[in-house]
Amino acid sequence: MQKTAENSIKRKVSLLVFHCFALPTPQMIKIFKETGTGVHYIIQRNGKILSLVEEDKVARHAGLASWAEFPDSINAKSIGIELQNSQMGNQRYTAIQVKSLIKLAKEIIKRHGIKACNIVGHSDIAPYRKPDPGKFFPWRELAKKGIGIWPEVKNCVSVKSFERTKAVQMLKIIGYNVTDETAALYAFTMRFMPQKIDVRSNIIKKEAEVFSFWRGVAVENAAKKIKEAPKIYPPEAEKLWRDSEILSRIEQVSDVYKRERKKKNC
Ligand SMILES: [Zn+2]
Repeated sequence: MQKTAENSIKRKVSLLVFHCFALPTPQMIKIFKETGTGVHYIIQRNGKILSLVEEDKVARHAGLASWAEFPDSINAKSIGIELQNSQMGNQRYTAIQVKSLIKLAKEIIKRHGIKACNIVGHSDIAPYRKPDPGKFFPWRELAKKGIGIWPEVKNCVSVKSFERTKAVQMLKIIGYNVTDETAALYAFTMRFMPQKIDVRSNIIKKEAEVFSFWRGVAVENAAKKIKEAPKIYPPEAEKLWRDSEILSRIEQVSDVYKRERKKKNC
């Protein structure tokens, strides 16, 4: 169990964050111990769930991150689940892993009353730093079981011209940090239109490079550092801004988030 000053405060859990990791589990646990980071649960490829940190304790799994009305301190307000995925999200999750994930997530949501809008991936809350849980994460399957938000794709109206400013505004409404606009768009697409994202062979190396750049950077300095930061998304991500189906999907998803928050579901 981890001991941090934050642990002594009785906390309110508002977010559930999904991650993935590429290393063998014992190695991952060793890194958590060495770096003082951690996560509440690990779900292995064989579906086995390991509990590493108690839910009422803080685990340092989110790092520099924000989402919607939560501008910082995501660790203090969340529970984290890591799924083993040797390609850092570029490999399909196993059926038994997904089954365990659904069971565990449902229990956590019920125990803490976590709202659907606040069930997120690491890439949602840290779009310029993190690629996990990746394009194969089963958001659609989870939403069918009442976990998180993933509206079915409507016949995407072809938007002829779409102002980038308007799209950025909508990404913000959903909850994304738009300090790096393309990073937010890439994270959105990975989650809500994954077929538009290519599998990346260099993602593990890239993630390590981006991780070491951001290590130790305080949240208030992030905006200043963003220009010189290595990008977690590939250069071709810029072309997503010209994809009318994606832009129309942003509009659809942001409408759903707006509606759900109005109904106080979120
Ligand atoms: Zn992560």
